[in-house]
Amino acid sequence: MLLPTLRETPADAEIKSHQLLVRAGYIRQIASGVYSFLPIGRRVLRKVEEIVRDEMDKAGAHEMLMAALQPAELWKETGRWDTFGPELMRLHDRHEREFALGATHEEVITSIVRDEVKSYKKLPLTVYQIQNKFRDEKRPRFGLLRGREFLMKDAYSFHDSFESLDGTYQRLFDAYSNIFRRCGLNFRAVIADSGAMGGKDTHEFMVLSDVGEDTIAYSDTSRYAANIEMAPVITEYDKSNEEPKEMEKVATPEQKTMQQVADYLGHGLDQGLKSIMFKVDERFVMVVTRGDHEVNDVKLKNLYDASLIDLASEEETRKLMGAGFGSLGPIGVPAEVEVVADFAVEAMVNTTCGANEEGYHFVNVTPGKDFSIDKYADLRFIQEGDPSPDGEGNIKFARGIEVGHVFKLGKFYAEKMDATYLNDQGKANTMIMGCYGIGVSRTLASIVEQYHDEDGITWPANVAPYHVHLLTLNPKKEEQAALGEELYQKLQAQGIDVLYDDRKERPGVKFADSDLIGIPLRITVGKRAGEGIVEFKERATKEQLELETDQVIAQVKTFLGK
Ligand code: ATP
Ligand code: MG
Repeated sequence: MLLPTLRETPADAEIKSHQLLVRAGYIRQIASGVYSFLPIGRRVLRKVEEIVRDEMDKAGAHEMLMAALQPAELWKETGRWDTFGPELMRLHDRHEREFALGATHEEVITSIVRDEVKSYKKLPLTVYQIQNKFRDEKRPRFGLLRGREFLMKDAYSFHDSFESLDGTYQRLFDAYSNIFRRCGLNFRAVIADSGAMGGKDTHEFMVLSDVGEDTIAYSDTSRYAANIEMAPVITEYDKSNEEPKEMEKVATPEQKTMQQVADYLGHGLDQGLKSIMFKVDERFVMVVTRGDHEVNDVKLKNLYDASLIDLASEEETRKLMGAGFGSLGPIGVPAEVEVVADFAVEAMVNTTCGANEEGYHFVNVTPGKDFSIDKYADLRFIQEGDPSPDGEGNIKFARGIEVGHVFKLGKFYAEKMDATYLNDQGKANTMIMGCYGIGVSRTLASIVEQYHDEDGITWPANVAPYHVHLLTLNPKKEEQAALGEELYQKLQAQGIDVLYDDRKERPGVKFADSDLIGIPLRITVGKRAGEGIVEFKERATKEQLELETDQVIAQVKTFLGK
């Protein structure tokens, strides 16, 4: 069998799943972000695929297989030939026609459905495929977590109404929850940003893991979870009952940062105001928050329904305000600059802010009395300890790996590609779409991130490459070889997947490989083979027993729930 194990950790592998999948002989890299699956790797991939297929089929979706090689014309119809950028792998055929390797399949499926489905009577419909995708990622890394060729399950649904889309979205949301639960994963479905796509609802399925690239805000008591940029802040701020004092200008020489100014003036970060100049499309907006809060630019963008948002440059800021970044404040702002503030600011009394003059701050400043705000809104990032937006419990943060994504696309693609159907009045309407992805190879790696110990992988039984790892310690001994062979046949006859190690290797090598590969159960045929006694061990708990042959088969079946 092609099952090469390594004792050493590969130098380029930074995270556990990458290290262990290479060391234990599951995968091999052939180029940056491009991997081959060796036989046991293929087996795990198949197990995950089968769970995905089973749940997708149950949710009413039908499997198909689209071409990976896609003509540029299709991508030009939606404009994504230009907007997708360098992530799209492009090539020419011998006639110099342009093609892309499928990074995703909205264009292909929409063109098929546009040509084949003409009537509302054929809607709704949902299709999916499991196929390698190609994306020339800027930073392929972490092994299977961010590859340039990777296995994805992608599904697309077509509807004649938004209610119909809502129904399918919910069914697939539930299917995804089942899939990740059956993979043994600790995950959350989080509310995500629909971004530039113009869609509405979107959820990402996140596996909780320190190596994840995203930060999730979740409730410590309910199922609420959101990408931090999406979580609204519902904190009610108690208005300070301090008497407002007379505002005063004070010198704050050499004090640059918020923290330095607060220390210099002898108060906490949360007692000062932070003022930041943004460029929102074509206008300038000063955003004021409490000193310990961070501006959430997604919220600012939504407040203005803007398409572009950026920090103003130091130069632009100076030109407008007569002072640079560290000295800004909402007092004496020119009329062309709008001033908006986070709700927390409204409750503050006798606070401090920059004086729009290098080296000076105002103290004893009270909003409403000393300056006015054009608009108060929820403009800050949620923080740990804030009340959960669903009103239950408090917020905690965790890192997450995005393994799945469900998205209400609406009419975005159908409009661009002219995918219409005739309704019951015979009138042409644009189709409504949803799309739903799962990173199958990324899911596999995420399982390893959650299931390993110092010796290797500890697969949950549902996705393990085999159920039982059977070892004969000394196959040259007649009774060991015979009992090993007998067990191998008997277990297989019961429908149990067995990896049989009868190599002529030292016991230490066999045990180490077995721990590394991580099959949930191990049966060792050793010294007591003559008495018909073998050792049974659970990989994850390391519990071990000596059992007779028929007992051991019963024990395996009990463990697997067979
Ligand atoms: P990311 O933000 O991680 O780049 P994405 O938003 O580009 O993901 P989608 O286009 O929604 O991802 O793709 C669907 C799923 O495919 C993702 O949820 C993820 O699990 C998986 N996926 C995306 N890019 C990669 C990649 N480079 N390697 C492995 N899996 C990936
Ligand atoms: Mg991406």
